Amino acid sequence: MNYVENISDGTQGKDPRKMTVQELNNLGHFKKSMVKIIKEMCNSCIGADPSGQRNIEVSRCQCIGCPLWPYRMGKNPFSTRGEMSDERKAEAAERLRNARLNRNL
Ligand code: SF4
Repeated sequence: MNYVENISDGTQGKDPRKMTVQELNNLGHFKKSMVKIIKEMCNSCIGADPSGQRNIEVSRCQCIGCPLWPYRMGKNPFSTRGEMSDERKAEAAERLRNARLNRNL
C-alpha cells in the first residue's frame, strides 16, 4: 500500500482534528476502532492480504519492540472489559436484586 498521495490541494500536512468527517471520508478514511486500524497497519506492514485471509504472517511477526506488536491480532490484550472482580459481581447482583424488587412494588 502506498500511503503517500500526490495531492496538491493543501490536504497533505493538514491536522485531521480540524477536518470534517466528509473531508476524511473523501480521502478514504472512515470511522474504525483503533484496534482494527492497528490490525490493518500490521497487515500492510507485513504485506499480508488486506482481506485478512493471510494474517498468519502477522501472527508470526517477531518485531516485539514495535509498539503495535501486542495489538497486532486485532484485540487489546490489556483490556479488562468483560472481566469483573468478585466484589463487582456481588455489587451488580445486589443492584439487579434491588431493581427487581422495585419493579414488583
Ligand atoms: S507489530 Fe509487526 S506487523 Fe505490526 S506494525 Fe509492528 S512490525 Fe509491523
